[in-house]
Amino acid sequence: MPELNSRYRGRFAPSPSGPLHFGSLVAAVGSYLQAKSQQGDWLVRLEDIDQPRMVKGAADAILRSLELYGLHWDGDVWVQSQRLERYQQVLNQLSQQQLVYGCDCPRARTSQLAQGYDGHCRQRLLSQGSLAYRLKVPPTATEFTDLLQGQTLVPAALAQEDYILKRRDGLFAYQLVVVVDDIDQGITQVVRGADLIDVTTRQQALFTLLGAQAPSYLHLPLAVKEPGFKLSKQNHAPAISDWPISQTLSTALSFLGHPPPSELKGAPVHTLLHWAVCHWDLAAVPAVRELPLTMTLPAL
Ligand code: GLU
Ligand code: ZN
Repeated sequence: MPELNSRYRGRFAPSPSGPLHFGSLVAAVGSYLQAKSQQGDWLVRLEDIDQPRMVKGAADAILRSLELYGLHWDGDVWVQSQRLERYQQVLNQLSQQQLVYGCDCPRARTSQLAQGYDGHCRQRLLSQGSLAYRLKVPPTATEFTDLLQGQTLVPAALAQEDYILKRRDGLFAYQLVVVVDDIDQGITQVVRGADLIDVTTRQQALFTLLGAQAPSYLHLPLAVKEPGFKLSKQNHAPAISDWPISQTLSTALSFLGHPPPSELKGAPVHTLLHWAVCHWDLAAVPAVRELPLTMTLPAL
């Protein structure tokens, strides 16, 4: 009998620091197809925790783009800036377990540590002043198995340093909130861009410390070049909001190793996505790729 909680739950977690660009569309499409090809749920979460970096209107623009591309999410959109109490509660819990310590090291010191933070404040028991809070990271694996990239090594300095959970300016760090949210949303598989591959083991370690089972991880290839959509001679803005939707989706699918058949050229996004859900095969997705020139579309 299948486990009660075995249903696939994936997510797309954009940071609203700008509109959706081609790279984030690829992550959205890849995570959507992984979920929908397994009859799973696909959740959307706005990672606006780093408020100073957020751009007004970007969250709405991202959601509008997802709708335009036919990427309909399940349930409500979660917004990190509305969950601060929950993050504080988890930080307190880790503190009670003696897994957190205050750090007042100036950036001038930490930025010079080539091997990552050196645990300087671990035994200092600081409680006064403006402090960052760091996780006492236990000996942590420096490799993991990625579902697309295979066995993946992570720099030890990143895997094993006592990383920051709450910043000195009072903001919770991405590394904490991403794990809390993945736990609270019951995410079974994380599909995201390969730029986040190196932080995977530290996130897995936090799942364990919080008594939760970590999801599996799949890191999609990064679009290192943007396709050559040219809307006007002056406009090379990377936001995809003005690009031709059907062609852009086809390009994203081609990038993910699933070029739609020629009879679907120009088909509506729902038709393209339906085709992609039915034909999605992880074995066809390239682990690494640079956008080939042949994917560049002609100027409009
Ligand atoms: N918010 C992150 C980003 O936009 C993604 C985090 C994640 O998928 O774990 O790059
Ligand atoms: Zn310190």
